[in-house]
Amino acid sequence: MAGGKTVVTGAGGFIGGHLVDYLKKNGHEDIVAVDIKPYDEWYQVWPYAENKILDLRGKEACEESVKGAKIVYNLAADMGGMGFIENNKALCMISVLINTHMLMASREAGVERFFYASSACVYNGDKQKDVDNPGLKEEDAYPALAEDGYGWEKLFSERMCRHFMEDFGIVTRVARFHNVYGPHGTWDGGREKAPAAICRKVIHSKLSGDHNIEIWGDGHQTRSFMYIDDCVLGCKSIMESNIEYPINLGSAEMVSINQLVDIVEEIAGIKLNRKYNLNAPKGVRGRSSDNELIKKELGWEPSIPLRDGMAKTYEWIYDQIQSKVPSKA
Ligand code: NAD
Repeated sequence: MAGGKTVVTGAGGFIGGHLVDYLKKNGHEDIVAVDIKPYDEWYQVWPYAENKILDLRGKEACEESVKGAKIVYNLAADMGGMGFIENNKALCMISVLINTHMLMASREAGVERFFYASSACVYNGDKQKDVDNPGLKEEDAYPALAEDGYGWEKLFSERMCRHFMEDFGIVTRVARFHNVYGPHGTWDGGREKAPAAICRKVIHSKLSGDHNIEIWGDGHQTRSFMYIDDCVLGCKSIMESNIEYPINLGSAEMVSINQLVDIVEEIAGIKLNRKYNLNAPKGVRGRSSDNELIKKELGWEPSIPLRDGMAKTYEWIYDQIQSKVPSKA
């Protein structure tokens, strides 16, 4: 299934950048990498790929990106962590243009398989009010009460993938990512998610000697976090599977935000005074991935331990921060 031209959109972003490299190392020779950002803002630019800068909200740009392609991984979206999506609902919803035009262009170009990166934000908010949430099952997306803005766009686009498959015969695959983290992703600037933000804050405390850290919410809210290597493996496996409905792609290792901070403190060898900002964006109360379905379908689930993935993420963010600090010599 690796033969033929493969397009990855959002390739200048975190997951897309890793996915291009993973696909290249796993049999995909002819890869087109597309993003709206200038190349100096891409997290990773792979020289072996045909790299293109296009705004995929426009149909013509989508047509150009999929010319001659057999396989499309559509990861482009205007998104970020909770701080971004709670304050930019319209921007998040405009990403519907990307998926709509990518699906239309892919169908017209004779693309055989189309992957869509959905999110755990499609799940019904009423099912995420408990910190002991045992994990969201795929059916928990309905009755629909998705995250306002971002989640509704994802839910709508999931359904469009389904109907393009039913009505037009293009094979579509949809994965619902649960919090992905790792090196070469957003760690500052307002779009970063909790794992990177906590690493950055702990490193800042370590380097500055200011041992106070601000935590969004009361720290008891729960999540699961999937390391990037599990994510890209899961994307390709789901793409090549017979799974015709949206499926969870996330870790089932649920932790509270306080436990996540404990892990980063331990990696850094530091103990901090936690200040809880109860007015900050904090999202749902409890969320984790129920992996029964993916285990049944693929005989696999994301399993890289959070402690191991956070150590690598911490190290990468530490290097980024150090490389920005002017040398005292
Ligand atoms: P990211 O922001 O690092 O990457 C997305 C990329 O899309 C960015 O580089 C951005 O420039 C690009 N993009 C935005 N608008 C575009 C446009 N009009 N045309 C072309 N490119 C455009 O985010 P990510 O974490 O790599 O996420 C990738 C996908 O996975 C997104 O669809 C996101 O919604 C989904 N997802 C991610 C997570 C996560 O935890 N990271 C969780 C759930 C879902």
